[in-house]
Amino acid sequence: MLAGVFESPGVFALRERATPALQNDDDVLLRVRACGICGTDVHILANPSPIPVQPGSILGHEYTASVVQVGARVSQSQPGDCVVVDPSITCGVCEYCRRGLLNCCLAIATLGVTRDGGLAEFNIAPARALHKIRAEVPAHLAALAEPLACVINGAEKIHVQPGEAALILGAGPIGLLFAQFFRAAGAAQIIVSEISDARAQIARDNGAHLVVNPQTQDLVALVKRETGIGADVVVDAVGALFDVAVQAVRRGGRILLFGFNSHAAPKISQSIITRGEIAIHGSYIAKHSFPRAVQLIESGTLPLAKLITHRFALNDAASAIETMRRGEGIKILVEP
Ligand SMILES: [Zn+2]
Ligand SMILES: [Zn+2]
Repeated sequence: MLAGVFESPGVFALRERATPALQNDDDVLLRVRACGICGTDVHILANPSPIPVQPGSILGHEYTASVVQVGARVSQSQPGDCVVVDPSITCGVCEYCRRGLLNCCLAIATLGVTRDGGLAEFNIAPARALHKIRAEVPAHLAALAEPLACVINGAEKIHVQPGEAALILGAGPIGLLFAQFFRAAGAAQIIVSEISDARAQIARDNGAHLVVNPQTQDLVALVKRETGIGADVVVDAVGALFDVAVQAVRRGGRILLFGFNSHAAPKISQSIITRGEIAIHGSYIAKHSFPRAVQLIESGTLPLAKLITHRFALNDAASAIETMRRGEGIKILVEP
């Protein structure tokens, strides 16, 4: 089969690989229908890579598939099922798993990062990673289940209420999923901060009431003017804008730190947080949120198709990676 692999630091390649075979009784053989390209894939392919990945490993952690074959002990899935895949395989026995904090697992493995993923014609996943999705849901929408499940995990921490004002920093796929989600939750004002003109236009089409370019406009002043006192909630979908979030949120408001950048070390005026009783939440990947992501996709509540700007065949996966590297488009899909 054809597979998109991490060839060596900084290098992506398409390679012929043997079709994988079931190894364990709880394994499922999947035929991949669609796989999203994520910022994490671009990080993996940076040189040096901040994420340790074995050379030759198949990328892709945002995928939907149909079940081809199941192991002897699999009862939840059967051949022909359409599924989405939770790529995070937790150990179940560490101190965090025992506390139900699965995304904090000390021995977490990830399909498409530390194990072969879905940027290929076939993939093997353990049955417990699979969530069934209705066959009528088009594959390109089902492929959004993983980022949507991560967004739901974050949104649950700051529970936007009808009538509230939300500020979202960054209009990539995650920022725009938050915009759609908050719009559906009844937010009265959604302000998006984005430096790319192309992404700003897409943000307007995805529920943003106001899009601000922080390089040419005073973002904090605009947020204060539009809301009167500051945003009720702020989401940092970039991962380096904690300081901006602290200035733009109102007293008693909530900040969600979602984007991940291990080099970011913003200078924070801690007293603003204390004086304003600002609640700060970190959010990392998904946690118990795949079932809701599937329900949300099946219901058609969110206009998810608007986020998909590029669709490539598997033999053109290198173009998909390059498009993502250039920061073009929003959600880029590969469809084997
Ligand atoms: Zn991702
Ligand atoms: Zn664990």
